[in-house]
Amino acid sequence: MPDTILQRLYLLPLSLTTVQVAPDRTLDMNCVAYLVTTNDGKHIVIDTGMVPGAGTRMNLPKPQYEKDIVTSLAELGVRPDEVDMVICTHFDPDHAGAHDAFPQAEFVVQRAHYEVARGGHERYALARPHWDYPALRYRLVEGDTEILPGLMLIETSGHAPGHQSVLVRLPQTGAVLLIIDAVPLQSLFRPDRPATPNDDNEEQMRASTRKLIELAEREHALTIFGHDAAQWKTLKRAPDYYD
Ligand SMILES: [Zn+2]
Repeated sequence: MPDTILQRLYLLPLSLTTVQVAPDRTLDMNCVAYLVTTNDGKHIVIDTGMVPGAGTRMNLPKPQYEKDIVTSLAELGVRPDEVDMVICTHFDPDHAGAHDAFPQAEFVVQRAHYEVARGGHERYALARPHWDYPALRYRLVEGDTEILPGLMLIETSGHAPGHQSVLVRLPQTGAVLLIIDAVPLQSLFRPDRPATPNDDNEEQMRASTRKLIELAEREHALTIFGHDAAQWKTLKRAPDYYD
């Protein structure tokens, strides 16, 4: 059997919210997910977006637009039962809000993250009905792991224990580094990056940031940040794709 070859990476914008970060300053933050397709017809989803209604419960302003992942995939002609794998970066409510829409898929998460969340940490309670849905099958990985040829999970604890980023090596584009919430904004991509309000462990967060800076340089990677709506405006978004 020939190896699976990664074919396309789709960036799926799911919502856009303008938050007031200072009396005179706002910041556009997006909530996103990703789809990777392969030459042999596999569909790999990375994160599943916001828990429905969670923005209101978290006192976030009303988003400028909102789309759920199932609708977003349907626009690309992909049904939930065609999704083979869901890579879970972490179980925050803006990343694990619709895992239960993919009961046929295999879910891949860092063991350290799964154990903290399953242990009942309150941060992961809001999304728990979605990620701890009884029918879901989990594969627990430990540390950096090549999950398919060209698809690497990169352990980046700090924002959350066992948070993972994803490196996607594409045939034309080359390496694309999906940093997720290890570094949510491009302006924070520096070795001394300051902590953001939801970071769990400042020392690990900084070590992970340095690891990602080195990896991005070594791979000459297109580097995509977790919530940077300004950066996303400059990128190809679905239905366009990177190949
Ligand atoms: Zn997030």
